[in-house]
Amino acid sequence: MTESTPTAPGRYPSDWDFDVLLRDGTAARLRPIRPEDAPGLADLVSRMSRQSIYHRFFRVKKELEPAELERFTVLDYRDRMAFVIETDGRLAGVGRYERDDPGGDAAEVAFSVADEYQGKGVATRILEYLTAYARLHGISAFEAFVLADNHAMIRVFRGAGFTMSRQLDDGVFLIEFPTQESDQTRAASEEHEKRAAAASMTPLLYPTSVAVIGASRDAGSIGGRLLANLLRGDFTGPVYAVNPRATVVRSMPAYASVLDVPNRVDLAIIVVPARYVMDAVSQCAEKGVKGVVVISSGFSETGPDGRAREEELLQLVRAHGMRMIGPNCMGVVNTDPAVRLDAQFGPVVARRGNVAMSSQSGALGIAILDHATRMNIGLSSFVSVGNKADVSGNDLLLYWEDDPATDVILLYLESFGNPRRFARIARRIGKKKPIVAVKSGRSAAGARAAGSHTGSLASLDVAVDALFRQAGVVRTDTLAELFDVTAVLANQPLPAGRRVAIVSNAGGPAILAVDTLEAHRLQVVEFSAALQDELRSHLSIDASVRNPVDMIAAAGPDDYRTCLDIVLESDEVDAVLAIFIPTSAQGIDEIAGAIAETGRRHHGSKTFLTVYMDSAGAPGEVFEDIPVYLFPEQAAMALARAVEHAEWVAKPTGHQVAFADADPRRAGKLVAAALARSRGESVWLEPDMVEEILGCFGIAVPRSGTVMSEDDAVALAATFPGPAVVKVLSPTALHKSDVGGVALDVVGEDALRHAYRTVLAAVPDPTGALVQEFIPGGHEVLIGITQDPNFGRLVVFGMGGVYVELIRDVAFRIHPLTDLDAEEMLGDVRSAKLLEGYRGGDPGDVKALIETLLRVSAMVEALPELVEMDLNPVKVRLPGEGVCVVDARMRVEPVSATGAPEPTLRTKRGISAPAVET
Ligand code: ADP
Ligand code: MG
Repeated sequence: MTESTPTAPGRYPSDWDFDVLLRDGTAARLRPIRPEDAPGLADLVSRMSRQSIYHRFFRVKKELEPAELERFTVLDYRDRMAFVIETDGRLAGVGRYERDDPGGDAAEVAFSVADEYQGKGVATRILEYLTAYARLHGISAFEAFVLADNHAMIRVFRGAGFTMSRQLDDGVFLIEFPTQESDQTRAASEEHEKRAAAASMTPLLYPTSVAVIGASRDAGSIGGRLLANLLRGDFTGPVYAVNPRATVVRSMPAYASVLDVPNRVDLAIIVVPARYVMDAVSQCAEKGVKGVVVISSGFSETGPDGRAREEELLQLVRAHGMRMIGPNCMGVVNTDPAVRLDAQFGPVVARRGNVAMSSQSGALGIAILDHATRMNIGLSSFVSVGNKADVSGNDLLLYWEDDPATDVILLYLESFGNPRRFARIARRIGKKKPIVAVKSGRSAAGARAAGSHTGSLASLDVAVDALFRQAGVVRTDTLAELFDVTAVLANQPLPAGRRVAIVSNAGGPAILAVDTLEAHRLQVVEFSAALQDELRSHLSIDASVRNPVDMIAAAGPDDYRTCLDIVLESDEVDAVLAIFIPTSAQGIDEIAGAIAETGRRHHGSKTFLTVYMDSAGAPGEVFEDIPVYLFPEQAAMALARAVEHAEWVAKPTGHQVAFADADPRRAGKLVAAALARSRGESVWLEPDMVEEILGCFGIAVPRSGTVMSEDDAVALAATFPGPAVVKVLSPTALHKSDVGGVALDVVGEDALRHAYRTVLAAVPDPTGALVQEFIPGGHEVLIGITQDPNFGRLVVFGMGGVYVELIRDVAFRIHPLTDLDAEEMLGDVRSAKLLEGYRGGDPGDVKALIETLLRVSAMVEALPELVEMDLNPVKVRLPGEGVCVVDARMRVEPVSATGAPEPTLRTKRGISAPAVET
């Protein structure tokens, strides 16, 4: 065991202060240890059993000596580091590392967890953060000495996904593992994240008892309506009414405070005016309530004061390990017969079904519930998240991921707190259950002043599209579309392909459907002769049988049944659309019945949708689980979305590629040095530095150097095998060639001297020149990074050169890119076809280009300070010749808590821990 001497305390890394979830779903605080923790640490050790102490210290001891306490709590936060997890005002556990020798890249780790917190993932959570911290501080390997019978600790290391080597030595294992992230450690931490988040939702969605705080006697008030809904819904556990001004509410005894309730309360719904909410929640904490739903408004939605109140509320909830929905929400619904929880104040009773839904807007939530119910869309659960102070869309996604009652997830979003985390989670879940979202703000795109080509190309909506697309989220433009698409996804199998059959009793609506389908590249295929013959044998001679099948107005229930049977059984199509326009009042119900019954009989074989063009709407009880639309375009659009989603599901996700030759540490040091020179101000890096950083990631640049005189320019160019390029350096010239500041293909000393003088004369403030090797030929493309205020950094690719803003043929992606993302980016840019050697043009080294995109993504991952970059142009040379970045600009900005694992919970702790709230 390394037992080092006390260190001078380092600067406390206060930005590494997070709220985390333990395995059982309780929230706790994870933060670096500090000297004042000495009494807490002593208390922690006093709560450890003899065996736990022996496992940790390899000897029996009762308590820590003052010197030990000091050594464990006074750290330099570099060579010696420790995190604690604190809950209910006490330390639950501590994990530390000590570097083997100064400047070395290995460290020893050890954990102490209070006995009552063992098995709750305390060590696992600390290990996750400790590893990230160590990695950022140049430690590449951890080692731990573990007694052979310390199974719990061995499980922690193994569960964290670390590949380890062990050596048995006197009953002691030496466990060694790299601090580098791997697919295994990532998968392990995602699994922990999912389990903990799902567990923390249990008291909110499966409470065994509910208290309504603010249960009003006024049946028309929000509290009164909510209580009435709970009772009407027949909640399976006891409901307690809390109302200090009444002894009876709706024939139930009312309690003055939740503390007076004689039994245990799992969930409290809070419907009191904002100024009483803190007290109500405090009492819930005291009562041991696990979850609260705060319906009350008057928080962050009202302005800075409200924001402060909400923050206080969140801290209170966190301090007691509770979870909170809201504030400013309309409540929760869980239709599972095991609970029948209808804790919302709207008038609608949700139908039981397989769609889970979360809404950010409260009022809209009521409308959504209503509409879903009218569309025959049944719900598994519904959560109105309101201000999302604590429980976020991401928490719910993690819960619904493994919820057996949920097949489709609907989201109404107004904002994203942590888009990257959303993308990561959604991408995984979307492969199993479709996520359909309507995100308001399509038109919010605004031109922003930017210092790069890349920046001026981006807009908010581009980012949302990129995010949804990468994550496989089905994005709809309108709420109406949200339900149209959901009706198919919830009730029908995903289409196996793009081929569609249409069976109609009128030509017009069929043609409208065809137009919309084809606009989305679906195929209304012409049927084979055999299939046409078969259809014709059952229809009148006026009918058309090629597809669309127009059975003409006289078609009756039998015609529908027969024709639909034929196309549903045929292997020439993947989806079938039945269209019916009532042409007379007679036989309508029979036809509707025939269509629905046929669809039901073939359920699962093909995607089946219907259009019922009657302004009175389709008879809901007839269609039930068969998607039915008023207009053909609606059905066609819904089907198109389903097809696109099916294709996304079938597509492999790809891999994040690691580059062994990259040197992110050196790049990080270069950036840190530049920021130190700029005194923490955002700064564009010098060309030499830019090239060096690109070099750290194996991105090719031409030979080049910065010169201050003509003679130096000549001397440098003389070392190149071929012609040179001379570019002016100036703090003001953004686009050098625009002002005549670039001289290309310069050969010979005289020409070089002339070029040097010319480019310097082109600007008022030259600071020197960049002399580069001239790279002839090749296609010019742009690769960039831009910072979106809501989404963080995006990677951009487009055909480059000086026309990029004009042509705007570009693709955006959220990092990190997988190999397939990179390939797709090329596919999305229409002019990238030129790289294939279009019409006799030279082809380009596409393989090297894709690799460069991935190297840029690795650079983005490694350098959180890199907020803006323009590689324009990158020259894509002939296949096999690679690519070369001939012009590059980078802007860096200080950030904190960089490289920390993404916090599971939205947190306002620390100085600038990333806000997380989606
Ligand atoms: P700016 O973008 O500031 O105008 P660049 O350095 O991109 O300046 O140069 C302008 C154009 O000159 C590039 O788009 C490219 O076509 C060409 N160019 C620049 N550097 C080289 C080089 N080293 N080899 C070949 N062509 C180059
Ligand atoms: Mg350029």
